[in-house]
Amino acid sequence: MRSKLRSAPRSPRLRPKVIILGAGISGLALAARIAPRCDVTVLEAGGAAGGLARTIRHKGFHLDLGPHPLYSTEASREDVIAGLRRALGRDLAEIERTSAVWFNGRLFKYPLKMRDILSKLSSAELAGYGLSFVGARLGYTLGRRGRGDFASWVKARYGGKVYRLYFEEYTEKSWGVSPPLLSAAFAAERVPETNLLDVVTEAVTGRRRASAADHPHNPQKARSFFPRLGVGMIPDLLQREMKARGGRVLFGRKAVGLKMLRNNAAGVAVRHHHGRREVIPCDFLASTIPLPELASFLVPAGEAARLRQALPYSGLAFVFLFLKKERVLRHKWVYFPEKGIPFNRLSEIKNASAACAPPGRTSLCVEFACSPQEGGRSSDGSYVRTAVRELRRLGFISASDVCGSLVVREPNAYGLWLRGFPEHYQRVQDRLGEVANLASFGRQGDFQYFNLDHCLLRAGEIAGRIAGFFRLEGERS
Ligand SMILES: Cc1cc2nc3c(=O)[nH]c(=O)nc-3n(C[C@H](O)[C@H](O)[C@H](O)COP(=O)(O)OP(=O)(O)OC[C@H]3O[C@@H](n4cnc5c(N)ncnc54)[C@H](O)[C@@H]3O)c2cc1C
Repeated sequence: MRSKLRSAPRSPRLRPKVIILGAGISGLALAARIAPRCDVTVLEAGGAAGGLARTIRHKGFHLDLGPHPLYSTEASREDVIAGLRRALGRDLAEIERTSAVWFNGRLFKYPLKMRDILSKLSSAELAGYGLSFVGARLGYTLGRRGRGDFASWVKARYGGKVYRLYFEEYTEKSWGVSPPLLSAAFAAERVPETNLLDVVTEAVTGRRRASAADHPHNPQKARSFFPRLGVGMIPDLLQREMKARGGRVLFGRKAVGLKMLRNNAAGVAVRHHHGRREVIPCDFLASTIPLPELASFLVPAGEAARLRQALPYSGLAFVFLFLKKERVLRHKWVYFPEKGIPFNRLSEIKNASAACAPPGRTSLCVEFACSPQEGGRSSDGSYVRTAVRELRRLGFISASDVCGSLVVREPNAYGLWLRGFPEHYQRVQDRLGEVANLASFGRQGDFQYFNLDHCLLRAGEIAGRIAGFFRLEGERS
């Protein structure tokens, strides 16, 4: 599905000029890799490096945008983590993934077990859910796999009643979109496949069968690591490496268009934060900005608007509360799947690294989902009031604990795979593939649910493609 690079230059170039859009983990990792052999400039719209993996320093607190442990669920990506462990040394500590789910008025260990969900029900209701589930499994065995949307994918595997009990409201709450509007591919990516034996075993014993728990994609099984002063230590490290190898980052430069020369990107049109515009020339363009935004540089305005609608993002508002307390949670983070509670997740970074808050103080990060339509229109004050009110109501804090707050919004937290996603995605890839010296990658650029490890791996792949394109030798890892 990814773009192919064609028309490589005939002779090797000495120091080709490579522009990278976005100074998140993906852009910086690529820059650090290719800086020794290329003239590298990273253009970043914002004022800081790190993107979604930045750490905000605020009055002695180190704040991440939600919990950010580094882990890998696939052996192929463990090497990139090993590399970071060597570079960060004692600053990257192994941590335990202690997380919980707030469900039915109390905390359960994460992930929620089928038995915990069923404990909410009367025996008559239980029988109804059981019948619905068994009916779905029989239909599935006979080949009924559901239509192309999220809701019917889940119903075909778990039954309509379990879907309505858990998946419907959690999905709508998390992504701000009704599940029938989401693609089945999205469900296949996020929801584990199950079978009757797994569910019955879990419901009766409370334990996952070994086959389900040992699934290679189970993050609970992966070793997790966390930098001493927040996840931002990783982009900081990459930025230092890139600079030492001759690369640079220009902040406050938003890419707004491309200058094309036949089937090549000859330059990037950039708007400075104070409004000035210029075109910066390049021999190769590697982009980590949102895929529909990049594609909009290559198509007429009407088609660009349709693309943004077809490949939208849901955002997050992060409410940080500063508290006059040593600790609040026993866990590193807690999920809130029920619709009656307005936020999705609560995390306490100090439980991942004590150095992230001053002594006698801690911070909580409360994540509110913003649908593409709503876009986080509530005011900062209203988010803070809601967070404090709900956390008091649930018994996590008292109002006198709170000594400050900060609200940060991220409009591009999750690319939404709506119904019809594969066709739209392929059309965009085909269009980008027509530009010989262009690569789009990373969480936004690939429009995938990548974690840090996957972004680092993709940066390595793109470095290899650039080296091949210019026939460079000695590209450093
Ligand atoms: C809430 C949350 C929790 C997460 N938790 C984890 C976790 O526990 N473990 C884990 O491994 N991963 C986690 N992730 C994923 C991880 O944060 C991302 O995979 C990673 O940070 C993405 O990096 P990126 O560089 O690909 O994209 P981004 O970080 O989004 O970087 C893109 C950059 O491009 C810039 N940009 C955008 N448009 C333009 C433009 N037009 N011109 C110039 N610059 C532009 C942006 O400002 C940004 O800096 C989490 C993500 C979220 C949202």
